[in-house]
Amino acid sequence: MELKDNYGRLIDYLRVSIIDWCNLHCVYCQPEIIKRTHYEILSYEEIIRIVRLAIQLGIKKIRITGGEPLMRRNIIFFITELSKIDGIEDLTITTNGILLAKYAYSLKQAGIQRLNISLDSLQAKRYEEITRGGVLNQVILGIEETFKADFNPIKLNIVPMKGINDDELEDFVRLTIERPLQVRFIELMPMNHNLSWEKRYLPVSQIKKRLKRHFVLKPVSDVKVCNASGISVSRSGPAEYYQIDGAKGLVGFINPISEHFCNRCNRLRLTPDGKIKPCLENEVEVDIKTPLRDGQSDEEIKKLLLLAVKLKPQRHQFASKRVRLRQMSAIGG
Ligand code: SAM
Repeated sequence: MELKDNYGRLIDYLRVSIIDWCNLHCVYCQPEIIKRTHYEILSYEEIIRIVRLAIQLGIKKIRITGGEPLMRRNIIFFITELSKIDGIEDLTITTNGILLAKYAYSLKQAGIQRLNISLDSLQAKRYEEITRGGVLNQVILGIEETFKADFNPIKLNIVPMKGINDDELEDFVRLTIERPLQVRFIELMPMNHNLSWEKRYLPVSQIKKRLKRHFVLKPVSDVKVCNASGISVSRSGPAEYYQIDGAKGLVGFINPISEHFCNRCNRLRLTPDGKIKPCLENEVEVDIKTPLRDGQSDEEIKKLLLLAVKLKPQRHQFASKRVRLRQMSAIGG
């Protein structure tokens, strides 16, 4: 079955945020340090039911995110159960890597096929400042364990910010020479955070311009990755990829602001408190937790998922100055 929105876009991707707590408090993600939430989050059982119904409607790819997903108790049990759902073609996770040294191998065993690790500095002191307390070495160890657990590809996501970490662009790119990493630069989005977005935002065009002074980056049109059964498949996503000659890894650019890719948007988001968000930027949400707990049937829940698809706006309005209530960690980036 295919799920299409009002603009003819195929919707086959659900990003599931399972927790809004995080063990880091990145300056561009959380406006302030939040210790705990005041609302009840969905149980694993509820999430699994929603995912199963979404798959029946045509969703094929699931990404687990947060907050920090590895902080939620019994995460491996959850992933194991999730991966038993028939029809999930791609099961992935986004993490800050702090707990990866402990979990990399079990995540692989449980059925996670690919991993994205967020890392905004390679300098210990700066990393601690950006994340308000994070220890860089824990992430480095986590990345090493991820290699040992044989994940392929391993993606490192960096949000370059003017005057904060933009002097490290070249260092990140150099990582791709020796290791099969996909280093991806993602534009800073004006979410509910306390950074001055106008002052810190660095468009992809400028990032590329700076990198081209040091490297010859050749465009890579078709990124091959291995799926669970080891078969090479090509994947289309928002990233545009380049490679330094002879490098083992790739350099990617994602520009949600300067060149929005909404015409290719294929996703819905499930928040930890049980709302379906048709668009990351837009405040529209469809409550799925209340009907679920009121005992609504599978068919009624499916109708709500379909409603969320129909409510997808044509494009985001990040350029407007409107106030955004949710911070990224309460949506799932
Ligand atoms: N804790 C996990 C992690 O750090 O990857 C998952 C949740 S985090 C909210 C997911 C991603 O959102 C991270 O890669 C982070 O860099 C990104 N993010 C958060 N706020 C952002 C913003 N204002 N602009 C761009 N990316 C942002």
